Amino acid sequence: MSGRDTGFRHWLARRWQEVRARRPDVRDDSVREDVEVVRRQYLESEQRFRALLESLPKVAVQGYDRDRRVIYWNEASTRLYGYASEEAQGRLLEELIIPAPMREPVIQAHRAWVREGVEIPADELELQHKSGELVPVFSHHVMLGEHTDAPLMFCIDVDLSDQKRAHRELDFATRFDSLTHLPNRQTFEAQLDEAIADCRRQDTGLVLVYLDIDHFVEINDALGYEQGDRLLVELTRRLHRATRASDMMSRLSSDEFVIAFPGFQREDVLPQLVHKVQQVLRAPFLMDGSRRQVTACLGVSLYPDNGDTARELIRNADVAKNRAKLDGRGSVWFFDQQLHDELLHQHRLVDRLEQALDSGGLSLHYQPQVSAVSGCIENLEALLRWQPAEGPPISPAEFIPLAERSDLIHRLGDWVMETACRQRAHWRDAGLAIERIDINFSGRQMSRSDVFERFEACLARHGLGPRHIGLELTENVLIEADDRILEGLRRLHHLGFRIAIDDFGTGYSSLSYLKHFPVTALKIDRTFVRDAPDQPEDRAIMEAAIFIGHRLGLEVVAEGVENREQLMLIREMRCDLVQGFYFFRPMPALEMERVLGGLVTGHQGFVG
Ligand code: C2E
Ligand code: MG
Ligand code: MG
Repeated sequence: MSGRDTGFRHWLARRWQEVRARRPDVRDDSVREDVEVVRRQYLESEQRFRALLESLPKVAVQGYDRDRRVIYWNEASTRLYGYASEEAQGRLLEELIIPAPMREPVIQAHRAWVREGVEIPADELELQHKSGELVPVFSHHVMLGEHTDAPLMFCIDVDLSDQKRAHRELDFATRFDSLTHLPNRQTFEAQLDEAIADCRRQDTGLVLVYLDIDHFVEINDALGYEQGDRLLVELTRRLHRATRASDMMSRLSSDEFVIAFPGFQREDVLPQLVHKVQQVLRAPFLMDGSRRQVTACLGVSLYPDNGDTARELIRNADVAKNRAKLDGRGSVWFFDQQLHDELLHQHRLVDRLEQALDSGGLSLHYQPQVSAVSGCIENLEALLRWQPAEGPPISPAEFIPLAERSDLIHRLGDWVMETACRQRAHWRDAGLAIERIDINFSGRQMSRSDVFERFEACLARHGLGPRHIGLELTENVLIEADDRILEGLRRLHHLGFRIAIDDFGTGYSSLSYLKHFPVTALKIDRTFVRDAPDQPEDRAIMEAAIFIGHRLGLEVVAEGVENREQLMLIREMRCDLVQGFYFFRPMPALEMERVLGGLVTGHQGFVG
């Protein structure tokens, strides 16, 4: 007989005695009928109650008698604690599901409730599954028949495993990177600050390496995100293997990692640490079924030299990494304050340049190229000018490379193209005698997929053709050009456009490649022109370049001719065109107009 039935018998006997005491006239059999009705009602209610308890899949209910032996165990309790009802019946609460350290307190609490009425409050607990594992529950307790000699304690436990898991996952997601399981930026910064504090106490240093995978976007684009993710996971695995447990790591953004080496004491181990990180990338990565070599740029900062907070060290390693990126794949840079200041200056300059572009602060100057024989103006080169409202003018040699590091170069390039074309059309309409304006194109500009379409559209807008506008590209741009660029240039060449190799002799300087490129002219760099009169080597190179240029049917231009001596030498070498301060400095359009209109002439002392 269950504990509940025992309770009911007690209750029934007591009720019977109460009735007899109050109503001695009542006959036993009529009382029995009444009692029978009540008993039936009680049993029905009990069945409904049990059915209810059994139907709650997530609410585990257990009943215990005054000795804490199981008298009731529903299906959900079996699911939660692993014991079948038959297995659990009659066994002690503390032996079944109470973990050892809690046993004595539970026994005491139960006794205090039974004897002194001190309730056990509802609470979050970790109870024990049959397998020994702990189960998080919210446990509520009810005592029935509290003041009788058969008190029954019912425990109603709600399984909290799902909530706890969700909570743990949420906690993980806010502190760690879901792909590599490395600490995220916030977590890492906190860890790094602690490590810095340890280093301070122990009077040691710390090395922070910032790693940025080269051209990761291309890997993602070409092979898909899945392969990109695989690379990141594999890289993390390799970094773990290469570092010690006391070193720290984080993935800061898609392809950027930082690794901190605390307890660093001797400068001479620094190269070894950097080498260790570089080695991680040495072996090719298996992606999309083939082995691919991956490189990364590294930036390094040191505690205490380059900062004494996590933020500062990370920022400075990032600055160094950005500098390394400029040197190309696989480069390493160490942070120094001068570098930081320089980059800051450059950053501000690019901001100001963008504003100048928006507010009309830029202009084009034009410098004539004259015939080496006759001194007549043949063409003009368009040169960008930036005169800020305050301060000295800023040279394109300084700001063009900066603009090239951002998309600003494309806006700048479009502006130059549009302005030069408008000017050329204007001079045509004004009937000025001038052939071509040549425009400089930088490497990054050429890499834009629609550069040729834009160029041709711009010319078409102004009704111009190959006679009116030419192009200047440096050697390196041509050498690094992919098939798309070369194809586009070939097309322009075929249409009759003039294409010059600018600053010839300063790049790869391999004459043999000349025949592969669709070019029409060579512009010999002004350093050769400058040094040729005194340096036989420079003279020899110039002579060779002019000779080969002519043999290949190219026009040869000498840049930067500043004096008569240089001019004489160049004429001797049979150079075709001359550009330089000796004849004309670059000048604004209006001034150029007066020159072209014959109102002003170039160098007076020209000897034809
Ligand atoms: P570049 O294309 O080689 O232009 C010739 C540079 O030599 C110009 O410098 C010109 O002012 C300078 N120059 C001409 N004759 C002499 C001379 O006799 N002596 C000396 N010392 N210099 C002379 P600038 O204007 O400062 O331009 C520097 C570079 O900036 C240009 O070299 C070109 O690479 C770039 N650049 C200028 N404008 C543009 C542009 O619109 N677009 C692009 N992408 N680059 C440009
Ligand atoms: Mg040029
Ligand atoms: Mg040049």
